Amino acid sequence: MNATQEGSSPVLNLLAQLHRDHLAISEGTVATYIPELAKADPNWFGICLVTANGTVYEVGDTRQSFTIQSISKPFVYGLALEDNGRAAVLQKVGVEPTGDAFNSISLDPGTGRPRNPMINAGAIATAGLIGGKNRVVKIRRVLETFGLYAGRELDIDKAIYQSESQTGHRNRAIGHMLRNFDILTDDPAPTVEQYFQQCSISVTCRDLGMMAATLANRGVNPVTGKQAIRGEYVESILSVMGSCGMYDFAGEWIYNIGMPAKSGVSGGVIAVLPGQLGIGVFSPPLDAHGNSVRGIRVCDELSRRLDLHLLNRSGIGRSAIRLKLTGAEIGSSRVRTTQESKILREGGGRTALYQLQGNLAFAATETVTHDIVTGAGGIDFLILDFKRVLTLNESACQLFHLLLRQFHEAGKSVLFARLGDLPLLRRYMKAKLGVGWEDKFQLFQDTDPALEWCENKVLERAGVGRSADHCATPEDYDLLEKFTGEEMGVLVALFKRRAWKKDEVIINIGDDAGEMFFVVRGNVSVIIAAASGTPKRLATFSAGMAFGEMAIIDRAPRSATIVADTAVECDTLCLEDFEKLGVSQPAIKIKLLENLSLGLCRKLRKANREISAFD
Ligand code: GLN
Repeated sequence: MNATQEGSSPVLNLLAQLHRDHLAISEGTVATYIPELAKADPNWFGICLVTANGTVYEVGDTRQSFTIQSISKPFVYGLALEDNGRAAVLQKVGVEPTGDAFNSISLDPGTGRPRNPMINAGAIATAGLIGGKNRVVKIRRVLETFGLYAGRELDIDKAIYQSESQTGHRNRAIGHMLRNFDILTDDPAPTVEQYFQQCSISVTCRDLGMMAATLANRGVNPVTGKQAIRGEYVESILSVMGSCGMYDFAGEWIYNIGMPAKSGVSGGVIAVLPGQLGIGVFSPPLDAHGNSVRGIRVCDELSRRLDLHLLNRSGIGRSAIRLKLTGAEIGSSRVRTTQESKILREGGGRTALYQLQGNLAFAATETVTHDIVTGAGGIDFLILDFKRVLTLNESACQLFHLLLRQFHEAGKSVLFARLGDLPLLRRYMKAKLGVGWEDKFQLFQDTDPALEWCENKVLERAGVGRSADHCATPEDYDLLEKFTGEEMGVLVALFKRRAWKKDEVIINIGDDAGEMFFVVRGNVSVIIAAASGTPKRLATFSAGMAFGEMAIIDRAPRSATIVADTAVECDTLCLEDFEKLGVSQPAIKIKLLENLSLGLCRKLRKANREISAFD
């Protein structure tokens, strides 16, 4: 989605105002030491903010091309990390800020190791770490990677590259110094050229916003969904941006603006607020540190107005528990006999259902585990519902794993429901619990079957569990409660026995209703389509229970679909026969209607109880 194409929005209005306010600034000078760069128009000015979920806000000259220059450094550093691993890269390039200018020849006096990858010396050493059999392959890999970050194919601006190559004697000197200290182990010339080429990759301000947002989104471009860098390396890139990205202005930058950032001599600046957004600003006039004057001011304003300082966070995790219910307050949609319901109401308090929400990092997850363990003495079955969890990190996984172990050791069960979009937790549990991990905790697609699982355990413990092939006789039918043998005989004579195979549809929604059903054997489920379109189970009936009985009262078409969960047999009573009873045996009809009303009352009471449990 592109916010500029949607007309106005609060964020866009804010950016437009910042753009207006900073347009008049006349300080700073366009870099000229690379002759081609001097051609830039000092009035070019673009601001682009891209959220970590891919909404793009842009104002001003956001489609003007310019060369990426030093902003290439963190992205190439990321590629070097992927190619070599952290340890090998750290051997060649440090991570200490220098407080020196970008082009200072500052190598560690002992090892010759450049202090960090954001100054030219470190960036050239980093360029030497890119995999590929020659410079052509290496720069192609760099271009491809940048393209993934930007979400479009990028190319090199040849005029700028040549201009820099013809004048880049200082960088060549740095290359030779690096060769001297064996930081570069081959002829430094191709690596320095490759570095000039990476600096000459042509981008727009919009590209910068997108590249920054990809870092904010842990390496995945939020618009294309493509992975530009493995998530685990993003923190390393952002760290060096945080400490060294703005050269000798880095300390003041992190103090005031508080976001990892990188500037380039062509006038670009990127800033990243992890998990939230990326910013790209473009305006060629530079200050004495070599940073874009407008770029810095705009980032400063944005940080202040939108409260973006990384170290000014609070309130995270206060509401990670969306709902907390016990098995006494909410039941599964499996319909229970009166005796079972009583046991479940009494024992249900030992089942706890936590519906979690939001972004689960340490603080948020801790509020959940703290609440659970505080009440843990009273919990035998813990259901964690992750449906409303947006993200979850390693620290959350770790806390849930430790909780699971603790529950396990105490002979209690933990059930995970609706893990859908959170494969990390699944992978984490698998890795930690090893072989047979699935047996150590229960995974459910929905909370309803999880609740049913707990209920079955409670009933089993109470010794009232019923086997699935239990066969009911008319004496067991709920609706025939208090019928005399003679009355039962009259009804049984009207019954027709019918059978269905597993998964067969017994009733279709919208069908005309012609009969009611008494389950003799097996399970049937009532299914409706939820608002989202996915089928939702409303109720499950087993032997002895009746369904399709509402039609006896209101004669309306069927309101739900009924499916055989197992092989099913039912006694059916057709409406006409039921009607005729009113003439021939009115007492039987009345009794049946009484029982029917009683059943509907019970259902309504259960529904009321559950609704009142929700805030
Ligand atoms: N290519 C430029 C150089 O090495 C990059 C410097 C910069 O953007 N600060 O001089």
